[in-house]
Amino acid sequence: MILFTQAQIVTGASSEQGALAIDKGRICGIGYGENAVEKACGGPLPAGTEVIDLQGKVLMAGGIDAHVHFREPGMMQKADMSSESRAALLGGITSCIDMPNTLPPTTSAEALQDKLERARGRFWTDYGFHIGATADNAATLAGIPGAAGIKVFMGSSTGNLLVDRPEVLETLFGLTGRVILVHSEDEKTIRENLKKAQEQFGEDIPIRFHSSIRSRRACLVSSMAALEMAIAKGTRLHLLHVSTKEEAEMIRAAKIHNPGITAETSANYLWFCEEDYDRLGSRLKCNPAVKTAADREVLREAVANGVIDTIGSDHAPHLPAEKARPYLSCPSGMPTVQESFSAMLTLAARTDLPLTQVAALMSENAARIFGLQNKGKLAPGYDADLLIIDPKAEWTVGKPAYKCGWTPYEGMSFTGRILEVWLRGEKVVEKGETLNDSPSGEPLVYRPIG
Ligand SMILES: [Zn+2]
Repeated sequence: MILFTQAQIVTGASSEQGALAIDKGRICGIGYGENAVEKACGGPLPAGTEVIDLQGKVLMAGGIDAHVHFREPGMMQKADMSSESRAALLGGITSCIDMPNTLPPTTSAEALQDKLERARGRFWTDYGFHIGATADNAATLAGIPGAAGIKVFMGSSTGNLLVDRPEVLETLFGLTGRVILVHSEDEKTIRENLKKAQEQFGEDIPIRFHSSIRSRRACLVSSMAALEMAIAKGTRLHLLHVSTKEEAEMIRAAKIHNPGITAETSANYLWFCEEDYDRLGSRLKCNPAVKTAADREVLREAVANGVIDTIGSDHAPHLPAEKARPYLSCPSGMPTVQESFSAMLTLAARTDLPLTQVAALMSENAARIFGLQNKGKLAPGYDADLLIIDPKAEWTVGKPAYKCGWTPYEGMSFTGRILEVWLRGEKVVEKGETLNDSPSGEPLVYRPIG
């Protein structure tokens, strides 16, 4: 048994000093207040227990990032399962769920099986995969086991998984048993905006027009349709990377009618805004586009008050040379899985975001939404996926461990440093280095969702 004492134990429900005991990879007890150690151990401290004093440190559950693009198979010059999951682990993420827009896309039981086989022995975090909906496979998806959720591109993004025919969407939103994750941007609106921009600028569109092309209106039109359909059909809808203040309000209202509706944003929409195009140029090009400072402010409120349920990094690596291309040929997406948790700790230190809410956003809610067995919580019986954090440490973001070698956060100052990462009871990261020679990630196990 290992016992952590005098830790500030932060869960989605509370932040209190106490002791936490782990054994055989699982949390076996938590105690607060007087006799915290005895409460955590269920009696006197057993002989041979390793005691780790965490005075002044925060203990949180490891992050669950249900929105990453690790580019394998098919785009391994940009990234692969091993390189990016190691970066994730260094950033305090202990479980990753990868998106289906790889080459080939993950749109069949065979492609899903291929990913699970590739992952074995190569993932540094625990792992799962979403399956992608296409116009042709919608009816078969409910019968494919082993997928975390079903990803629907209601706009278009990297890859060709666009689903916009109403009858296909009706089928998808009628599926039960798994969550439907929606990338929501209206393709028709985007195409019209792009045409206007090309008429004005020719092929040389300035990057700052990205948020006028992939516009607020494109998000609203699509999200309104998704939310309305999810209310009508009782869908377990998870609306991805929410980027506008209007969508936050729509989600708040929609949840009253269908409590099965949940939403994600990424730290990027809480951290960056349009003004950052001047500094970061096309590196900041992502879909949906980052919007205004006013949107960022409302989204920060929405994560603080629970309107938005999860943070997914939307880690979407591209090579620096690809990102340096002119607007039209520059791919959208930025790599951020290693900085996502730390960016949220920083917001907690500097804004009204409670650390308890960070625990909910980064771990607990994703585990609940996707039905992840024994994950995401500091509670007896759960996997001992733990982060030891110095909440006051100030540091500057350096070079990330990504294969592509860059992050939009590089050079920024963060508050709150992840000192150690534990995966199923084993210390796997210390002082910014992985401790093992080889990865020890395991596949996630899914409970039926209600
Ligand atoms: Zn994405």
